[in-house]
Amino acid sequence: MDLSEILARIGRDMAVAPDRGKVATYIPELACIDPARFGMAVATADGQLFCVGDAEVPFSIQSVSKVFTLALALGRQGETLWQRVGREPSGHAFNSILQLEHEAGIPRNPFINAGALVVTDALLAGRSRDDVLAELLGFVRQAAGDDTIGIDAAVAASEAAHGDRNAALAHFMAAHGNLRNPAHETCAAYFNQCAIEMSCRQLALAGRFLVGGPDMPRRIPPSPLRRILALMMTCGHYDASGDFAFRVGLPGKSGVGGGILVIAPGRASIAVWSPGLNTNGNSQLGTIAMERLAAKTDWTVFS
Ligand code: GLN
Repeated sequence: MDLSEILARIGRDMAVAPDRGKVATYIPELACIDPARFGMAVATADGQLFCVGDAEVPFSIQSVSKVFTLALALGRQGETLWQRVGREPSGHAFNSILQLEHEAGIPRNPFINAGALVVTDALLAGRSRDDVLAELLGFVRQAAGDDTIGIDAAVAASEAAHGDRNAALAHFMAAHGNLRNPAHETCAAYFNQCAIEMSCRQLALAGRFLVGGPDMPRRIPPSPLRRILALMMTCGHYDASGDFAFRVGLPGKSGVGGGILVIAPGRASIAVWSPGLNTNGNSQLGTIAMERLAAKTDWTVFS
């Protein structure tokens, strides 16, 4: 079966799936997104692009942005970043504060909220929020080859207005000396990065820099690239990272907007979007769709 047929079948099945999960409501601007939406896009290492469903509809990438900020921070400060953030799965929810107290303000990994706040804080060193966001948007636009990608200001404002939990994480880390900028400033940059809006097509194209292979864009050296993929595999789905590795067998990063970016190394960058979430805060149908795609294509990092 070729890829367009596989995608068409997944799209048909997902359109009628009865259990679509629940759209995130803690960011009010995301609460009104239609749970019937489903889109998927695959950008292959040989330069082809396959899309199905709502693959052209922009959505809030939320925590998928953490992959891009990590790439930038590793490029800027390399290994010293690991003095401030770990690289172990957390086994807790994405916004948990529990572990931070035990571990003296050093977050478990860069993909939980606390860890992503540290990464953003590192990017802010000696620079303004506007500079950091401009660099991030420039990186994503160039990776996708698409200058129209932007930030949804309404989503950023909505999260800021309801951002007490992230502010608590930031202040707690500041109390432990693990924040260099005022907590409100780091949070403001973080809310904006999460509010980047992209379609599945744009996200799949932006993810190509993680695929490797002779014809894929090279935005970062091979060593940090492998490390980002390792972290996506072990920590990209929070407390469900093990389940995602078991079911899909490929590194992925999810966001509460319902998007997931998955990389089949040397083969493809895949983006899926369906806004209804499972109890771990990952896209319900997005996870099922990725599981089916991996099974049908035999793409895995375990063979
Ligand atoms: N902006 C969201 C938050 O901080 C991102 C979380 C997510 O996508 N899992 O809560």
